[in-house]
Amino acid sequence: MRQWTATHLAKLARRASIAAGKKGTDLPGQIARRVDQNILRKLASQVDDIVFVSGTNGKTTTSNLIGHTLKANNIDIIHNNEGANMAAGITSAFIMQSTKNTKVAVIEIDEGSIPRVLKEVTPTMMIFTNFFRDQMDRFGEIDIMVNNIAKSISNKGIKLLLNADDPFVSRLKIASDMIVYYGMKAHAHEFEQSTMNESKYCPNCGRLLEYDYIHYNQIGHYHCTCGFKRETPKYEVNTFNVSPFLKLNINDAQFDMKIAGDFNAFNAIAAYSVLRELGLNDESIRKGFETYTSDNGRMQYFKLNEKEAMINLAKNPAGMNASLSVGEQLEGKKVYVISLNDNAADGRDTSWIYDADFEKLSEQDIEAIIVTGTRAEELQLRLKLAEVTVPIVLEKDIYKATALTMNYSGFTVAIPNYTSLSPMLEQLNRSFVGGQ
Ligand SMILES: [Zn+2]
Repeated sequence: MRQWTATHLAKLARRASIAAGKKGTDLPGQIARRVDQNILRKLASQVDDIVFVSGTNGKTTTSNLIGHTLKANNIDIIHNNEGANMAAGITSAFIMQSTKNTKVAVIEIDEGSIPRVLKEVTPTMMIFTNFFRDQMDRFGEIDIMVNNIAKSISNKGIKLLLNADDPFVSRLKIASDMIVYYGMKAHAHEFEQSTMNESKYCPNCGRLLEYDYIHYNQIGHYHCTCGFKRETPKYEVNTFNVSPFLKLNINDAQFDMKIAGDFNAFNAIAAYSVLRELGLNDESIRKGFETYTSDNGRMQYFKLNEKEAMINLAKNPAGMNASLSVGEQLEGKKVYVISLNDNAADGRDTSWIYDADFEKLSEQDIEAIIVTGTRAEELQLRLKLAEVTVPIVLEKDIYKATALTMNYSGFTVAIPNYTSLSPMLEQLNRSFVGGQ
């Protein structure tokens, strides 16, 4: 009865807060926990597999990839995909999404919330992506945090999926005897190397770690005289490239993904490991991996029949150059729609477009460039100065300009600045309705 009251009050609260225009992700959980402090424990016991996804970076993408792939295989899941990754938000997800067919829960969990949540729920599986210093202000030294996590998960029969390439994550092997490692082969890819190395010290004995190979920061192939070393992964990225989307070779299976950014290769191998451990094969995983795309206008991909598009925000010269070089990496014909607004949020000064390298467009196979936004004429002038000889179409209405690209067979490359993003994205979603 208490559980019934708790969940129903929570659902009412959710409805009320959505009606008030708030997302209401934490509120139902907060209310339910006040009525029934065991609510999360009870709801969690009704699910067969509970996967916790944690770490400093990449846990949202990793858990979204897992969730998307399970759904693509018609598996009902509970998933806190709104980034509500502390106790109340996790409780909300269980309340709002439980059905009698739900067998799997994929839960993104904040590293700092692990000790508290594990008092209520024992997951069947936990995956850790990496531990970086940017959260350390909140959690104290990295070693203390790792030891606290280890303490709260040990002797509970939890299967741990660990990034073999991160010595901090690998350290968690002290907490379970069911360990699966995942990682990336040396030279699988040249990452844009950051010069900062988080800490090269052995988390086991404190001596300096020796590296045979570094992917980036402390992530790589290491060993120590005390015997602590990178373990051999069960799931491993052999090689990958970004052109502009990830093409990954994992354990000799090939995945053509629709997300960009080389760091996402680690999120992909993390998600892959969870999915394999849940029993999916490569073919089932491919159904999810090859259809997953971001939804925030950053390297977001669209497809409807043969027509493809991508949108990437650019609000400064570096962003514009990155977006233009995406076009370089795409094979075949392209049609561009570029928008320049000068609303307050964009900054009134649009002269930065003179620092962007539009000249490189003359090397691409382009059907047309559609310029739009409040300062469309400025863009048109800039392209003329760059001696780009392709047809340039001026259409100041961003919706119309974006829709126009559908008249061309080439790959649409949509580049909005800040306040142009929302109308452009809205129109792409409309034009590609029914597609990906
Ligand atoms: Zn050592």
